[in-house]
Amino acid sequence: MTHSEPPTAGRYDVAVVGGAIVGSSVAYFVKRLAPAASVVVIEPDPTYEFASTLRASGGARRQFSCPENIAMSNFSIPFIAQADETLAVDGMPAHVEWRAGGYLFIVGASDLPVLRGNLEVQQAHGVDAQWLDTDALHARFPSMNVDGIAAGVLTPDDGWCDPNGLLQGLRRKARSLGAEYVADRVVDIDRDNKVVRAVRLASSRALHADHVVNAAGAWA
Ligand SMILES: Cc1cc2nc3c(=O)[nH]c(=O)nc-3n(C[C@H](O)[C@H](O)[C@H](O)COP(=O)(O)OP(=O)(O)OC[C@H]3O[C@@H](n4cnc5c(N)ncnc54)[C@H](O)[C@@H]3O)c2cc1C
Repeated sequence: MTHSEPPTAGRYDVAVVGGAIVGSSVAYFVKRLAPAASVVVIEPDPTYEFASTLRASGGARRQFSCPENIAMSNFSIPFIAQADETLAVDGMPAHVEWRAGGYLFIVGASDLPVLRGNLEVQQAHGVDAQWLDTDALHARFPSMNVDGIAAGVLTPDDGWCDPNGLLQGLRRKARSLGAEYVADRVVDIDRDNKVVRAVRLASSRALHADHVVNAAGAWA
């Protein structure tokens, strides 16, 4: 559906729909990489009561079968590990609580070829992924019952963080770099053919935007 030009309450280079972990990350990286770009994040609930981000366990791993996922983790895990400093504002660190506790995938005999194949992809992409046969597993994790386990792969540099700490850190840093957060809900997007013109808000305002990022999670 297209509309005539709306009465705009602001004009932005980038409008981000949803300000949880994905939306706030987009806002932060746009402002970091293109400081002159104007960015607005539209997020109806600053408490993030129903956002997936606050439900997450915060686990971050490189143990994937797909190179693209491994590449994303090769970027994001070091970023998260350094995020307390990287996202500091006025000398106040973020509170991401990164713990490099490692990820361990274990399989029975029938899944050995899959585990081995994944390991080779991970190692080819620079991941410290270690093959542990049953004896090695027992030696490394003496409390583990290894009956029925044929082997495991350990990635010791993987781990977990506090998702809310990462979200609040990204949000605070994005704002410090000039991103605006608007407490409202996007109800429509105006466009001319395939060109985005503006986002319409529940408050009946419209924000002109040259680029719109839909980061509304399950509501996207
Ligand atoms: C139980 C559980 C455990 C998980 N564990 C992990 C894990 O260990 N590791 C991991 O990497 N991932 C995990 N995830 C997945 C992870 O939580 C999600 O991939 C991530 O939080 C998605 O973030 P998001 O910003 O896309 O969406 P959300 O966090 O859902 O945020 C979407 C935002 O959009 C806003 N919004 C909705 N509609 C509109 C609108 N019309 N206009 C403007 N804003 C709007 C919402 O208010 C919300 O704040 C887990 C998920 C769950 C549920």
